[in-house]
Amino acid sequence: MGSVFMNKAPPSPPESASEATVEVYALQAGHFTLPERFFVHPASETARRTVPSLSFLIVHQDPVTSEKTRIVFDLGLRRDVKRYSEPIQKHVETRQPMETLPDVTKSLAAGGLSPDDIDYVMYSHVHWDHVGEPRDFAKSTFVIGNGAKALLHGAGSLRGSHSFFEADLLPSDRTLELPNPYEEVDEETKKPQSEGKGPDFFQEWKSHENLPRVLDLFHDGSLYIVDAPGHLPGHINILAKTGPMTTVYLAGDACHDRRIMRNERKIGEWLDDHGHICCIHADKKLAEQTIERIQKLESDGVEVIFAHDFEWEEDVKNQSRFFGQA
Ligand SMILES: [Zn+2]
Repeated sequence: MGSVFMNKAPPSPPESASEATVEVYALQAGHFTLPERFFVHPASETARRTVPSLSFLIVHQDPVTSEKTRIVFDLGLRRDVKRYSEPIQKHVETRQPMETLPDVTKSLAAGGLSPDDIDYVMYSHVHWDHVGEPRDFAKSTFVIGNGAKALLHGAGSLRGSHSFFEADLLPSDRTLELPNPYEEVDEETKKPQSEGKGPDFFQEWKSHENLPRVLDLFHDGSLYIVDAPGHLPGHINILAKTGPMTTVYLAGDACHDRRIMRNERKIGEWLDDHGHICCIHADKKLAEQTIERIQKLESDGVEVIFAHDFEWEEDVKNQSRFFGQA
């Protein structure tokens, strides 16, 4: 049975997708201070924590053309807070102490890059402490999760003084909104994007291990955009294969405190001035499900880094993980 095929060489495996990797570097992009009770429950009424707003540089190299694609994930704090909208400037007063330098451009410069070298700026979400100063990136294409555009243009009403958005934040001719993870992507949308080389933002969302909705950005398993619902509409994370045995998960604001990951605390809730229940996450239930998936990844050996990951930042062995510090 099947002997007629014996002389044939077995079909060579498809271009070994699992070997492709990307480089991931952390970038300092400011620090600010949050009341602990906004993160976790139970918490002290008065405890405050100064946290980083981390950005990341991700570099993918095409194995055939050697062409590099450089992506910055989040831009952190805006170095000149006077350039935030009025309501955010008011909000910022409640987040002191705050230090906006070094900002993401200074952190890129530490490794010899300028904003003009960055092909894509991708936002985990469009809260003020992640959007930075997009004007610096005059040549980059901006990538936002599905639903983020509507938020920027004033759709919906979210509680909390941090939820103010700027309609003119991004240049419309250089901004891509990812397809809806809960709908099929129509063929017309797919075609033009997948023809060329480089990242493919308009493909079907698929499951990958325990993650139900991801985009395999370069179709080589090196870099996935992960639908990470709960914190804010359009919230996305990154799963990056950085070596044969190493994978990094950039969790954005899916979680703010490692004690939640260790099940030592629950997600915090508080009452605003009007007596409304507030939560750092727009949808707490979905946020909990997202955290459960991240816990599973971590237990499988994936390194998880949050945007405001003060424990990760404080760990001396991570100093060399910042761009230009190796
Ligand atoms: Zn944040």
